[in-house]
Amino acid sequence: MFGWFGKISFVPFSKVQDFAVHLKDGRLMGSVCKGCGYATFPPRADCPQCLAGEFDFREIGGRGKLYTWTRISAAPTGFEDVVPYTLGVVDLEEGGRLVAWIGDTIPEGEIRIGMGVQVVPRMMEEREEIKVYYTIEKPGTTWGKAPPSG
Ligand SMILES: [Zn+2]
Repeated sequence: MFGWFGKISFVPFSKVQDFAVHLKDGRLMGSVCKGCGYATFPPRADCPQCLAGEFDFREIGGRGKLYTWTRISAAPTGFEDVVPYTLGVVDLEEGGRLVAWIGDTIPEGEIRIGMGVQVVPRMMEEREEIKVYYTIEKPGTTWGKAPPSG
């Protein structure tokens, strides 16, 4: 089911594959290491701090600050149809740093490094197979679309 994640999943199976199932239901799940308590988002099955391989999922709120951003004009394979697009890097309040598309609620002219942002689960509605991802939006933006049943 990790094959659901992203426009193209280059990693169809992962120890954290339930992450994509939770994302479909509108939940952002980070991980907490059972060995040392290290918390991160996106989830990591193997702890970068103590190298333990056991973890629990923990839901996060998704608030953070924009660390940096860029506009992609030369797309990698599989993204040619959506170019140009903007990507941001977010430092989360609850720990972790992620890369995601900057969503429609933040026009490029309003992007400021250090601004408060909200990470929001998304589904690619134009696709027939399940594809889930998340975007960087203005604070207060919520997962507003009911996910499909099943
Ligand atoms: Zn650890």
